[in-house]
Amino acid sequence: MSQILIAEDEERISSFVAKGLRAAGYTPLVVATGREAYDLAQSGDVDLLVLDLGLPDQDGFTVLRRLREARNALPVIILTARSSVGDTVAGLEGGADDYMAKPFRFEELLARIRLRLRTEAGTTDSSVLTHGALSLDLRTRRARTGSREVDLSAREFALAEAFLRNPGQVLSREQLLSRVWGYDFDPGSNVVDVYVRYLRRKLGAEHLETVRGMGYRLVDAQ
Ligand code: CA
Repeated sequence: MSQILIAEDEERISSFVAKGLRAAGYTPLVVATGREAYDLAQSGDVDLLVLDLGLPDQDGFTVLRRLREARNALPVIILTARSSVGDTVAGLEGGADDYMAKPFRFEELLARIRLRLRTEAGTTDSSVLTHGALSLDLRTRRARTGSREVDLSAREFALAEAFLRNPGQVLSREQLLSRVWGYDFDPGSNVVDVYVRYLRRKLGAEHLETVRGMGYRLVDAQ
């Protein structure tokens, strides 16, 4: 089981990421300062670092530079504000493996974490998720049902991805909101129901079952 270090001083973001990682089978460790991030990364007990740039004591770039100077090759994914993506890309030359612009969807961060860990392990696996007649190609962002190609919006694709990663499992509205819409979304919104309806229309209603009072589930359908 992989231990993932999250260095982020904004509690709502770190707890959102930690919760999602735990649900995905990882062990998250959360710290809120650059100093702790550096020390834990150097301990050798973690497999990947999710590193916020704006930390209170020393910024993420400093942490990263110190790690690389110490010849620490731990995979690092930077979290950055969307407005400073330009600086971040420059900062990647400082030795980060990838970055995520805030606000982000959890599934997107998870995909990057998985990719990094796989690259580390030297294995490759398919980027196509399938369940019954449904398939999603995560690289080309194409969806198919049987031999028919289906055009999905980015949000619909993300929702379909959440279902295909958890086949047969009931996903609550709250889980789907947090995975697909992120932490900035109003929990009272009915946007999940609206998008499930869109997906049913495009993929076939038989694939997504409503579980009354609980949420939705991807079922086996022909
Ligand atoms: Ca911050």
